[in-house]
Amino acid sequence: MVSSKKKVVTKTPPSLTVVKKKTRGNKDAAPVEAPIVTSYNDRIRPLLDTVDRLRNLNVMKEGIHLPTIVVVGDQSSGKSSVLESLAGISLPRGQGICTRVPLVMRLQRSSSTEPEIWLEYRDKVVPTDEEHIAEAIRAATKVIAGSGKGVSDAPLTLHVRKAGVPDLTMVDLPGITRVPVKGQPENIYEQISGMIMKYIEPQESIILNVLSATVDFTTCESIRMSRKVDKTGQRTLAVVTKADMAPEGLLQKVTADDVSIVLGYVCVRNRVGEESYEEARMQEELLFRTHPLLSLIDEDIVGIPVLAQKLMLIQASMIARCLPEIVRKINQKLETAVLELNKLPMVIGSTGEALMTLMEIIGSAKESLLRILVQGDFSEYPDDQNMHCTARLADMLSQFSDDLQTKPKDASEFLMDEIKILDECKCVGLPNFIPRSAFLAILSQHVDDIHDKPVEFIRKTWDYIEVVISSIIAKHSENFPQIQSSIKRAGRTLISKIKEQSVNRVIEIVEMEKLTDYTCNPEYMTYWTHNNSQQESFINAVLKDGNKPDYFSVTGFGNVKISHLRKHHRQLLHPAFDMKMRITSYWTIVLRRIVDNLALYLQLSVKHLVNSQFQKEIVAEMVDPKAGGGVERMLEESPLVASKREKLKNSIKLLKESKDAVAAIVDQN
Ligand code: GDP
Ligand code: MG
Repeated sequence: MVSSKKKVVTKTPPSLTVVKKKTRGNKDAAPVEAPIVTSYNDRIRPLLDTVDRLRNLNVMKEGIHLPTIVVVGDQSSGKSSVLESLAGISLPRGQGICTRVPLVMRLQRSSSTEPEIWLEYRDKVVPTDEEHIAEAIRAATKVIAGSGKGVSDAPLTLHVRKAGVPDLTMVDLPGITRVPVKGQPENIYEQISGMIMKYIEPQESIILNVLSATVDFTTCESIRMSRKVDKTGQRTLAVVTKADMAPEGLLQKVTADDVSIVLGYVCVRNRVGEESYEEARMQEELLFRTHPLLSLIDEDIVGIPVLAQKLMLIQASMIARCLPEIVRKINQKLETAVLELNKLPMVIGSTGEALMTLMEIIGSAKESLLRILVQGDFSEYPDDQNMHCTARLADMLSQFSDDLQTKPKDASEFLMDEIKILDECKCVGLPNFIPRSAFLAILSQHVDDIHDKPVEFIRKTWDYIEVVISSIIAKHSENFPQIQSSIKRAGRTLISKIKEQSVNRVIEIVEMEKLTDYTCNPEYMTYWTHNNSQQESFINAVLKDGNKPDYFSVTGFGNVKISHLRKHHRQLLHPAFDMKMRITSYWTIVLRRIVDNLALYLQLSVKHLVNSQFQKEIVAEMVDPKAGGGVERMLEESPLVASKREKLKNSIKLLKESKDAVAAIVDQN
């Protein structure tokens, strides 16, 4: 990664020449180390080194933002030229889109006379040298973003370690183009502005807004964008390029500050054409010193050396401000990663260990099921209502009960069903007995009408429990994806067995009601006596009442039509009405009994499922050699877990190193 070529040109350090406040026309004054340099070396340098170490460790990979200077500017505003001037190197320049990927420039001052320059991208390290940087960047850009004119947000890092460069890390981003040029994708503007936003949004970023002196600043797209994330301009610094091309009015432009930039303006003149770096600096110095208009601009805000110095100070204060938060984040992320790693399963070495782990998985899944399905403790899933099973089961039951007890609309007219049945059940005997067979026939008809509902209810309930079980299994076995499908299969098999049993049981419960008309519930007699007391007045209304009313009000039935009953004999109307009242009283009790029975049965079978069947079924499936030897499969670590472990280990290593890197600085302050 070290450039091997002998360097031909040694360049003036842009940063140090201004460490001492420079006087125009006296640039040969010896660069004595002013107090600011010592304090810089003592206080700021360690901070910079720390952040640089963090950057080298790539702590940003862990989502920790580091203070970074982001260079933005409209296309051809001179971004690359500014970076070039700061680093004293040549970057690809020119018309059209040149910077097509984020270029992270790490400038590092070194004491070595031999500059070291290398590129880093996609884990590749490409050493280069000053003459070949432009070429190397172009080649790397091609690899990252293709050979067309498209852009990519995968960064390319350029390390420049040499004497005299300022200690700065900056990111050069593609310029903003409104209209796609030939060969660019239609959404180029969205792509580039999205990329810029990603970099300038973090509060830790310093926005270096490059503005060309030749344009009206208020129309700059880059100003519009930086304002979106930094409304007051607190972390924006403007560099005005091309001072040589538009000197008129430049002084007014930077003093008026129409675009409100708190960190201030610096006017510069970059390298023009094939000028050397020294020539460019000399020309710049000459320009601002002698130009009739430009020499009026305060010397504190002109020239690349001033810019370098300003940036270093801003960067240092930003670092000092952000560091405590960075330390906090590192510690917090480290803790989380360690916790997560500890949660990952150990590597399993023997069948015995595998069995033990399996039993642990089943045990913990069973515990969860017990809590949510039986005990109604859903602290494990505070926000997932679907997993608050006791409540959901109660909902389903009450819905079923309501559904069962809503009276279907009578298809036939009042009392006609009873009359028909009595007619068919008549026998040789006394007229004032209601034949039991008639009652059972009516009862049976009622039962047949609701027959499907309990079966449907129990099916639906088990479908729900199946979903719950499958999600519990998934949760507890997530570290063993290789056996997850087997355990899930066992869960499904179990539920389908239980479902079948339950359906049979429910059919039995319903059928029982057809066979016998019995209840010890005294409510039956109370209802019947009460309802049947209307019998006389009802029959009178049908047969005797001279007005021959069409309707009569019966308690529990409302106004019912009676005109169709006039053709029937009192001997038939009597038992028919009586029977209607009996069945009505009894049916209420039957429906409640079905609901109660189902509720108790459901509770029993859920408990049974959790307490014994669940474990048995899964163990059977897992040790069954025909099922593919699930337990043995636990011996192979799943690639998913292996890679998760690897990733966490790397994160922990990185965060630990980061923690060590910041420890020294934190102790100091
Ligand atoms: P970018 O697209 O923002 O990276 O802009 P470049 O750095 O590629 O510059 C665009 C053009 O402006 C190039 O031809 C540069 O040589 C020219 N340029 C940049 N800065 C200056 C300057 O200060 N003075 C002059 N005369 N030209 C400049
Ligand atoms: Mg550029």
